[in-house]
Amino acid sequence: MTRALMSDMTGISRERRCLRGKPLMSAHSSLSRKEMERTASFILVAVCLACAGYCAPLQVEDFDFGPPLGSEGATIEKTGENQFLVTLSHAPEHPGWANHLQFRILRNAKGNPLKMTVRFVGETQYSFVSNFHSWSYDGVNWQPTPFASTKTETDPSTGQKVRTAQLEFSAFEKDTVWFGFQVPMTYEQMVEMVERWKRHPAVTVHEIGRSLEGRKLIRLEIADPDSPYPKERRWVHYFANQHPGEYNSMWRMVGMIEFLLSDEGKDARQRSICHFVLMQSPDGPGHGWHRTNRQGIDMNRSYAVAGAFPEQGHEPYLFQKDLEGIMASSCPVTTVWSMHTWPGAADPTIAVSPADIAALGPPEKCVELLKKFDPDHKLVKPLKIDSRALRWRTRPWTPADSKPDGKSGGTWDGGPRAQFGVTACLCEGGADLLTKEENIASGRVLIQALTQYYEGIKPAAQAAEKTSAETVPRPAGS
Ligand SMILES: [Zn+2]
Repeated sequence: MTRALMSDMTGISRERRCLRGKPLMSAHSSLSRKEMERTASFILVAVCLACAGYCAPLQVEDFDFGPPLGSEGATIEKTGENQFLVTLSHAPEHPGWANHLQFRILRNAKGNPLKMTVRFVGETQYSFVSNFHSWSYDGVNWQPTPFASTKTETDPSTGQKVRTAQLEFSAFEKDTVWFGFQVPMTYEQMVEMVERWKRHPAVTVHEIGRSLEGRKLIRLEIADPDSPYPKERRWVHYFANQHPGEYNSMWRMVGMIEFLLSDEGKDARQRSICHFVLMQSPDGPGHGWHRTNRQGIDMNRSYAVAGAFPEQGHEPYLFQKDLEGIMASSCPVTTVWSMHTWPGAADPTIAVSPADIAALGPPEKCVELLKKFDPDHKLVKPLKIDSRALRWRTRPWTPADSKPDGKSGGTWDGGPRAQFGVTACLCEGGADLLTKEENIASGRVLIQALTQYYEGIKPAAQAAEKTSAETVPRPAGS
């Protein structure tokens, strides 16, 4: 696949489309002389104002806090010319978890500067000023921007923590503006990319259900139809993002997908089957939820080690049931990746199963491979090996586990490892990779190292359906 097409798939080089405006007056208009005079005087005033460089200041109505990139429950009030106070609301069922500051200016931004004071009262965890934010004129090309200042106080009358931040922009050059957490990805952009990837013959899109707000729950599968290796003998990797506010982990997966679909990724694509869930909580980006779904379930405290059951949460149940279906198929998953973000470069910790170590050698080989693809570790930190296996719960999980503090319940790395004994990777970090391109590049590093550590194809004994060794071609380079 050409570089231009791949770039187009991420929307980086997407051309802006112009809507053709309707004519102001049709030939059949029958305006009265008075109306025409009034129209002419309006135009005259508008031209004079434009000549004088005047632009109407921003109003409360120009801001939108709803989907596709919003902050549910946020309120805005005007405090001066182009100055506003925004009070953030919180995630469902979690009064102490602020929704991210995300908004769009729908009109009138051109020529106006902006000063915004942002406030959240009652924070208990997950500050809205953590990591970084980005802004954009088109929702596609983003620039990181810091808050001008932040402070935290305690309200003496209530004892509640009050966090305040100042956001400042000099005069905008265009009328529409987007603002969001990390490098934002909307649900709509995710669907658009999936539609483009779907054109590749190796891609199958599974819609496994709908979110509580009716958005598609999508798992993308990459399996090369022209591979010389039987599907049952290919390594199978499953990557999923749980927390809807951790956009950089989604861009990391975009990098993995693009590599696998590129000419360069052909060998990896033929020896493996890769599943990607870019958003387990697709309702999140539109509402600014950092960790939850509509029910307030912390999406990474939602795994039910004893087996999927409906009360574990709507989307977690559907995705775990789907994963259990893959595990029961003739192509069960070899590695499960739980994709997250925290400060720094991408930061993976892997717990390799004894079966994989027996087949591939020690996981230190994977550490070396990562170094090969990112020698300075600017994109991906040195791989950490968890020889004891990642944390998991041995008792059955209950819905109460993720409420109200969200501190317990099964995670999507330790959970599948405990349930199936497979290799699991918790990939954090990436929240200091400030651009879409860097996050995409970190994904390329990870998928290359992973698919080289998982060399060749599954040994016959490890494959679910044992295939006669004579009928299996020897993989290149193994
Ligand atoms: Zn997370």
